[in-house]
Amino acid sequence: MTEERLSLLRERIRDVPDFPKEGILFRDITPLLADVDAFRMCIQLMAERLDGAPVSSVIGIESRGFMFGAALADKLGVGFIPVRKPGKLPAATYRAEYDLEYGSDAVEIHRDALGPGDRVVVVDDLIATGGTAKATGELVKQCDAEVAAFVFVINLLALEGTKKLAPTPIITLLDY
Ligand code: AMP
Repeated sequence: MTEERLSLLRERIRDVPDFPKEGILFRDITPLLADVDAFRMCIQLMAERLDGAPVSSVIGIESRGFMFGAALADKLGVGFIPVRKPGKLPAATYRAEYDLEYGSDAVEIHRDALGPGDRVVVVDDLIATGGTAKATGELVKQCDAEVAAFVFVINLLALEGTKKLAPTPIITLLDY
């Protein structure tokens, strides 16, 4: 039953070659979002895999993590916290940097978004190198809170991004 649901989900991921630049195979989740049954099923599968783990809020990573994260937060009955690219959040922030193929980038969180005792789920559409998710985990630590689990729709296995996040539990729905 779960296998059937996962293969339905996989059918809603569109491969777009050479986007945003040559040599990248972009995994496009917009067909999944556009299909209400597939989208609901995706959020349901995430919730099932979390298996009732106590969670105080859900973090979504800009920008596709917002879509899945906000829906998962609603499903779990907890609040949603955005982690954004630098300069987007209006109040005082913490920042964590991560390496890109060329140069570096950073993510930010509002300093008052989390505090001691908070256990959060971090959500994004896809894990590639794991740099963005790892930096988000560092933001949670800066807030003196804890990551209960990382959740991704798609895992690009060859890049071994999940290794960067150990030993925190990682939930991925589809391996590519
Ligand atoms: P990383 O920090 O390397 O794990 O990159 C993860 C972020 O980059 C996620 O927010 C993804 O949305 C995006 N991303 C990286 N590679 C791809 C890809 N092949 N297709 C779609 N999104 C990607």
